[in-house]
Amino acid sequence: MKHTFNEAYEIGICDVCGLVEGSLTTDCPGEPSYKQADEVYERKLDYRSEEGWVSKFSPHRQRVLYTAAWDYHNNRSPYGSKEELMIHLGATKEEYNTVKKQILKDRHFT
Ligand SMILES: [Zn+2]
Repeated sequence: MKHTFNEAYEIGICDVCGLVEGSLTTDCPGEPSYKQADEVYERKLDYRSEEGWVSKFSPHRQRVLYTAAWDYHNNRSPYGSKEELMIHLGATKEEYNTVKKQILKDRHFT
């Protein structure tokens, strides 16, 4: 299910699960999920309707990885190598390559 955003707030907060912006999962878990919020924000935890809670990147973490990889490809990265970047962000080679493909695509169209 989709998150139900409370219109009373300017930031995205879901009325059902209580998750806020950077902690929002791909799909709504359907119940209060405050306990998982930090982990969704800082590490690798996401909720997907078909899979439940999974050790995958949430939308926020995907952006973090994307930005880090983008900087790396533009030689503006604090990381010395892409391996260092992957370890720091907890990304597997496959996940990194998926993001890299997206970056090459985005670059092509900008
Ligand atoms: Zn929700």
